[in-house]
Amino acid sequence: MISIAIDGPAGAGKSTIARRVAQELGYLYVDTGALYRAIALHMLRAGKNPAVPEEVIPQLGEVQVSLQYAEGEQQVFLSAENVSDWIRTPDVAAASSKVSAIPKVREFLLSLQRNLAEQNNVVMDGRDIGTVVLPYAQVKIFLTASLEERARRRWKELLQKGSIDFDTVLSDVKKRDEQDTTREIAPLMQAADAVLVDTTGITLEQSVERMLTVIRERLPRGGVPKGKEVVS
Ligand code: C5P
Repeated sequence: MISIAIDGPAGAGKSTIARRVAQELGYLYVDTGALYRAIALHMLRAGKNPAVPEEVIPQLGEVQVSLQYAEGEQQVFLSAENVSDWIRTPDVAAASSKVSAIPKVREFLLSLQRNLAEQNNVVMDGRDIGTVVLPYAQVKIFLTASLEERARRRWKELLQKGSIDFDTVLSDVKKRDEQDTTREIAPLMQAADAVLVDTTGITLEQSVERMLTVIRERLPRGGVPKGKEVVS
């Protein structure tokens, strides 16, 4: 199986770009942030403080998180409930960054992520995919953009759901960067063998193209799964 690991800070465009790259290659797209968000949602609903391990850990036994795919689109479930929309709020984003700093939470999600990569060719995005989850991934990319640009992208995305102030989004993104890069366990960092792709000032199309070039150069047969070669 082929694994492509994409890591980077919040708002770098990882999910949009990784989804497109996965489509182009015919691989499964796995957005691991959604798993942390689902756990955070569960904790918020249960009235637990997502930053307090003593409150979060005993609750993990109650959490049944799973991913399902409908026409290639990832859906995240808590037990039988599809929570894919519920996990996209700023509150859940902030809480997900907090629960993700708890080692037991990361451990809890590890085998789920690894199993997906064992059974499928994947483009997996997150913070620690190239460093911890899939250290043997054939291609690793660290995707980033300037803080301002990432905040602007997030802001535009959130504006579609209702009015929100740019400075609030900027400070939220900054706070999450700090939490994600300074936590003790699996902090966000570029793997030694990852290729850096900076999307500041380039379009989504250009970012996708750049990623595909990096990937194709590094994979045998350009990453085309066996039996899917175009015969001319
Ligand atoms: O990527 P997304 O913004 O959905 O991730 C939500 C949060 O989950 C991040 O801020 C990060 O703290 C955490 N996360 C993580 N490891 C991953 C993916 C996400 O710690 N592999």
